[in-house]
Amino acid sequence: MVKSHEGRLPSLQTDRELVLGLIEACHEAIVIHADDLCELDRAIGDGDHGTNMRRGCEAVYLDRERLGSLPLPQAIETIGMTLVMSVGGASGPLYGTLLIEIGRRLGTRDEADFATILGEAIDAVARRGRALAGDKTLLDVLYPVQTEMARQSALINIAKRAEVSARLTAEMKAMRGRASFLGDRSIGHVDPGASSCALLTTAICRYLREYRPA
Ligand SMILES: [Mg+2]
Repeated sequence: MVKSHEGRLPSLQTDRELVLGLIEACHEAIVIHADDLCELDRAIGDGDHGTNMRRGCEAVYLDRERLGSLPLPQAIETIGMTLVMSVGGASGPLYGTLLIEIGRRLGTRDEADFATILGEAIDAVARRGRALAGDKTLLDVLYPVQTEMARQSALINIAKRAEVSARLTAEMKAMRGRASFLGDRSIGHVDPGASSCALLTTAICRYLREYRPA
């Protein structure tokens, strides 16, 4: 049973339509904005973030029929492994870790709510990237999103918080990754990983708001 009420996540049963819909929504968001993400990355990195993310989303999209046949937790974990292998750079292992950790927890811990699972998965991403909140990374979107989810905020407010949080990374000095080599000169630029994370969050929230199970 999948519900589309504001602030509520779908339950965890196999749902081919949900998996396919989320894959398509995320794929579309990244394809449309790939050039913008590359431009952000040119300012403080090596300019390939949009290209890398598009490659990862294409790999997932091409595999969508198989993914749609899997239970949701397994689909999420498999998408994470595909992203590790296909995105490359720093972002592949980080997004991959996020999804692998979410998928594994969803599959084994029925009693935990999604916000708790997301929080644990984000902590795993932080360990993997040896980064903290405020270091100007995708964590600076993920943690605020988790906070909104724990508050059971409406999907539209989760998306808004993600977008605002990505913009706020412009004020931060990069402490991890290639951008950290710029030191203070990284200030004034939005972090590309935070930006892609906000785009994906918004795409997911929009899809879930409109989702009506058959
Ligand atoms: Mg790069």
